[in-house]
Amino acid sequence: MPREEVEKPGVLGSRAAAVKSGVSIPVIAIGSLSPEVGEWMLRRGMADAIAMGRQLLADPDLPRKVTEGRIEDVRRCMRGLECRTGIDEFTKDSHKRCRVNPALGREREYTIRPAAQKKKVIVVGGGPAGMEAARTAAARGHDVVLFEKAARLGGSLPLAALVKGTQIENLPALIAYYETQLHKLVVRLELKQEFTPQLARALKPDVVVVATGGVRVTPAIPGIDMHHVLSGDVLARKAAPWLGVFGPNLLAWLTRWWMPVGIRVVIIGGQLHGCELAEFFVKRGRQVTVVEASDKFGGGMSVVLSSRLLSWLAEKGAVLLAGAECKEITGDGVVVRTRDGTTQTIVANSVIIALPPGPNPQLSAALQGIVPELYAIGDCSDSRLIIQAIADGSRVGHQI
Ligand SMILES: Cc1cc2nc3c(=O)[nH]c(=O)nc-3n(C[C@H](O)[C@H](O)[C@H](O)COP(=O)(O)OP(=O)(O)OC[C@H]3O[C@@H](n4cnc5c(N)ncnc54)[C@H](O)[C@@H]3O)c2cc1C
Repeated sequence: MPREEVEKPGVLGSRAAAVKSGVSIPVIAIGSLSPEVGEWMLRRGMADAIAMGRQLLADPDLPRKVTEGRIEDVRRCMRGLECRTGIDEFTKDSHKRCRVNPALGREREYTIRPAAQKKKVIVVGGGPAGMEAARTAAARGHDVVLFEKAARLGGSLPLAALVKGTQIENLPALIAYYETQLHKLVVRLELKQEFTPQLARALKPDVVVVATGGVRVTPAIPGIDMHHVLSGDVLARKAAPWLGVFGPNLLAWLTRWWMPVGIRVVIIGGQLHGCELAEFFVKRGRQVTVVEASDKFGGGMSVVLSSRLLSWLAEKGAVLLAGAECKEITGDGVVVRTRDGTTQTIVANSVIIALPPGPNPQLSAALQGIVPELYAIGDCSDSRLIIQAIADGSRVGHQI
């Protein structure tokens, strides 16, 4: 089965139905079943029962929520396979981890308990770190306001969803979950509002949680300012209005027909962001070369997903150049020095900078001494992944 098929939710449903038609013993269906797909299969007699694995790590309360008719409260498994990584390669943590359920394995410690003292909490940034901090703090009884300078919640998630697609990892479902929870917990949303130290002085909160995301890195390579070079910032800026109008799914489909990116693409940076962009462009008919300074591609992805993606990219003819240093960008392409010391020009119509974001301490530094209790979480501290952003948000939400 091709990679996309293996990873489709509910893909084994038809297999369960085929087995059921040939045996007289009960058949239990498995394979990334959502409550909706499972229900649909049971109603059609495709299986006698359904089983869930990772979805119950993401939300152990799913059966209760479904029986109570609260399907909108189910925290969906994102199928990022971080739980399959075993000993967490990113945090060196020996717990089994879940991207969306930071309480996994720490249930006692992370039980929601009412705060001893109700505080006025401001969360800055509506990405996963900020949304989880706001959710946890509000669930514990704090008075929470969330400031987001964009028009919508989600932070970097809509852009990630556009690039990754939603067939395997459904990031829009994560945003929808948080929107629902924040609404139910009466968190006040201040959208299109950039939070500043002046606002902190005026509003006098007890606590500020800064979750403003990372800074996209632009390397100092001669030629980086040329018109055919797209930095992470430019990409994000160009995509933002379209994402607002169409959403990640429709926009992903539209980009299959048109995109302002040439046929030969060089991506600088071969970690998570670069590899995911490579997949995005290969799927849209581009000839892609990924240039990575280190020896390793796919850093930041779970081992299972990165090995699948890297072999898929190789199969599709993408060139992955490890240990290569970018010396210059010219009108013709990118000049690189390869591992063996030779210099070559990789022809490119478009050059994309896809380096991992760096920390962004600016707002936290400016708020020092203005607010009594101050935290920095997610990508703006030193996280780079959703799992870490949500874990940070939860930890601080419990700590306040
Ligand atoms: C293309 C792409 C693919 C990715 N793929 C993956 C992946 O496969 N797996 C993974 O784990 N991670 C992935 N990521 C990274 C992931 O999206 C981030 O790690 C995560 O979103 C960080 O969450 P955050 O809440 O810290 O910051 P963000 O999601 O960046 O949110 C920060 C928010 O703060 C807001 N803000 C900033 N300053 C202010 C201010 N002064 N006032 C009000 N609001 C403010 C911003 O508008 C933004 O909405 C990807 C990212 C991208 C861009």
